[in-house]
Amino acid sequence: MIPSTLRIGYRYRPKRLAPDYDAVVIGSGMGGLTTAALLSELGWKVCVLEQHYTAGGYTHSYNRGDYEWDVGVHYIGDVGTQTRTRRMFDFLSDGKLKWAPMDAEYDRFFIGDKIYSAVAGKQAFRDNLVVNFPEEERAIDHYMKLLAEVSTALTAHGMGRVLKPWQRVIGSPFLKLRTPSCMYRNTYEVLSELTDNQDLIAVLCGQWGDMGLPPKQSAFMTHAMIARHYLYGGYYPVGGSWHIAESIIPKIQQAGGEVFTYARVKQILVEDGSVSGVEMEDGHHIDCSCVISSAGIDNTFNYLLPNDIVQTSGYERLLPQVQPSIAHLGIYIGLKETAEQLGLPKTNFWIYPSNDYDAALEAFLQNKDAPFPVVYISFPSAKDPDYLNRHPGTATIEIVAPAPYEWFAKWQGSTWGKRGEEYETFKAGLGERLMQHLYDKLPQLNGKVDYYEVSTPLSTEWFSGYRRGELYGLNHNAERLRQNWLGPRTRIPGLWLTGQDVLTCGVTGAMMAGQLTTMAMVGIRKMTPLMKRIYG
Ligand SMILES: Cc1cc2nc3c(=O)[nH]c(=O)nc-3n(C[C@H](O)[C@H](O)[C@H](O)COP(=O)(O)OP(=O)(O)OC[C@H]3O[C@@H](n4cnc5c(N)ncnc54)[C@H](O)[C@@H]3O)c2cc1C
Repeated sequence: MIPSTLRIGYRYRPKRLAPDYDAVVIGSGMGGLTTAALLSELGWKVCVLEQHYTAGGYTHSYNRGDYEWDVGVHYIGDVGTQTRTRRMFDFLSDGKLKWAPMDAEYDRFFIGDKIYSAVAGKQAFRDNLVVNFPEEERAIDHYMKLLAEVSTALTAHGMGRVLKPWQRVIGSPFLKLRTPSCMYRNTYEVLSELTDNQDLIAVLCGQWGDMGLPPKQSAFMTHAMIARHYLYGGYYPVGGSWHIAESIIPKIQQAGGEVFTYARVKQILVEDGSVSGVEMEDGHHIDCSCVISSAGIDNTFNYLLPNDIVQTSGYERLLPQVQPSIAHLGIYIGLKETAEQLGLPKTNFWIYPSNDYDAALEAFLQNKDAPFPVVYISFPSAKDPDYLNRHPGTATIEIVAPAPYEWFAKWQGSTWGKRGEEYETFKAGLGERLMQHLYDKLPQLNGKVDYYEVSTPLSTEWFSGYRRGELYGLNHNAERLRQNWLGPRTRIPGLWLTGQDVLTCGVTGAMMAGQLTTMAMVGIRKMTPLMKRIYG
């Protein structure tokens, strides 16, 4: 297979490094880049080290010939007006990042043989639910109220992560006061107190794939955060998701920093209990007393830090309290006609075998031949007003579906593109089943597909560095959200954390984690003027 030529960032070579840096960031995903850019704005010289051949983490895109796909961005919410999310993107990208709205119907849920939608706008979203479930009006209004309550409480949750342990002790009565009781409960439990209509619960949870856990396992806070995030519609980054990183990198460079690719960190170096730098895979040491890891909790504590440090700092006891999220299959499809010619919508499709999402997932995990518990289909070229300028006369489609890493574990350690016939056959079989879902929903595509390829959890491991092929870093159950140690601060002086494991998954979740990490590092006094410039 021909490797992608779509690459951003600067290829790492030891001789290209500056003599010193104020901070080293491991990983160039949204969490790492946001932290690096905000620190750069405060005058820090930051070195971002990315193991992949291109920067951006899950926001990177790749191409094959005429086609280009995104791997971890299908839609972003809350960027249609001057929200905090939009202002932060504008600031980080110096206004270069533009957003294209999706159709008003941003998500369509195929649940068994029924079809429902999520439509843009708080009132329109609510009214559309009431039209579909007229006898559930009270439950729907109650649900909308809970979304608003959780949304307000998210700031307190985030601030709780920034506080020093002693500050948290003092602040905890206040934080508790700001925390609605539903926040850290299980999604299904909360929703079943509002209604026993299983179809309504299924529609409300129709985006469970956005966090990787079905309602009986997920935390209501994450559910509500995602539902609220898209309440005013879905948006796509004009020009493809790789523009996110491309537009942020100059801010880091302007302060003397750099974003290096092919730059795999082998170890975080610790001397006398404090961080002293990183060792690269080529053996080169980069000395720095401030290291920020955006590579995820698993990578940081189970692979990058020396074992004895993990033990003595007590993390060994804490780590079993969090688990990796599920892995996924991806299908990347190319067609030799445009989205318009093919009738592709700017709406995501979520296809479910029934309204019992938990049971469907369990059945699938037990038996590979059971129906896929969820199949997600996205139409990036339809969403991107710039796509045809870059790839005239073509269209692309992406499919995502869950798949446990264990099914692929026997090929662990093999090289991408050279995993052998048995792997290729297994992968092809899963791919064909997923393609059938596409043809079922859009029969006009029969005979129109020019190219497609299938990614597995091993591809995620290979390109994105997640050792269990995790879709979203740590699992988003309620237990995870109660872990106060999951924040920017660590018990190892000089080591900080950022990215989706600090707060929640999602490009915005990782971006907001970047803001929290910067705030924890520099303190509120230094951060306030910067926040004022960003948010006005
Ligand atoms: C299939 C899929 C679809 C998604 N769809 C959406 C969506 O539509 N909207 C949305 O908001 N979110 C979506 N997400 C989630 C979102 O992309 C992520 O939550 C977010 O981008 C994570 O950012 P991050 O910075 O925490 O981590 P990442 O982007 O994963 O960045 C971590 C980086 O660390 C690097 N790294 C790891 N180990 C090392 C090492 N030893 N040395 C150097 N570098 C290292 C990795 O290569 C990686 O680039 C999706 C994710 C997936 C997988």
